[in-house]
Amino acid sequence: MSDCLFCKIIAGEIPSTQVYQDEHIVVFNDIAPKAPTHVLVVPRKHIASLNEAEPADSELLSHIMLTLPKLAQQLGLNDGFRTVLNTGKGGGQEVFHIHFHVLGGGKMPFA
Ligand code: AMP
Ligand code: ZN
Repeated sequence: MSDCLFCKIIAGEIPSTQVYQDEHIVVFNDIAPKAPTHVLVVPRKHIASLNEAEPADSELLSHIMLTLPKLAQQLGLNDGFRTVLNTGKGGGQEVFHIHFHVLGGGKMPFA
């Protein structure tokens, strides 16, 4: 997706502060953090939103879920963390490349 912000970040065309990456996902700091720790977990594969996810994406989505606790531990969120997935304009989604927010490190509630 040539005009997708997160595809450009993944390709290194737009700078970000990466905190984790593997074969399937890239994780970087949110540019406008809503908590002391606020990262975005983004699959390398361009999926516009959960509405466009398909059964073939099951393994990828499961991989993301199961990576979150490891990531939280790496980020020092030993007390717990919040995961947010905005879907569609009505769900508050602004960037149409699926991503999971991981927030923590302070007092709830976060966005
Ligand atoms: P959403 O509203 O769920 O689509 O979330 C989009 C998130 O992307 C927001 O929390 C923004 O602060 C964040 N964001 C936008 N541009 C950038 C960027 N260049 N680098 C990192 N995060 C960004
Ligand atoms: Zn994309």
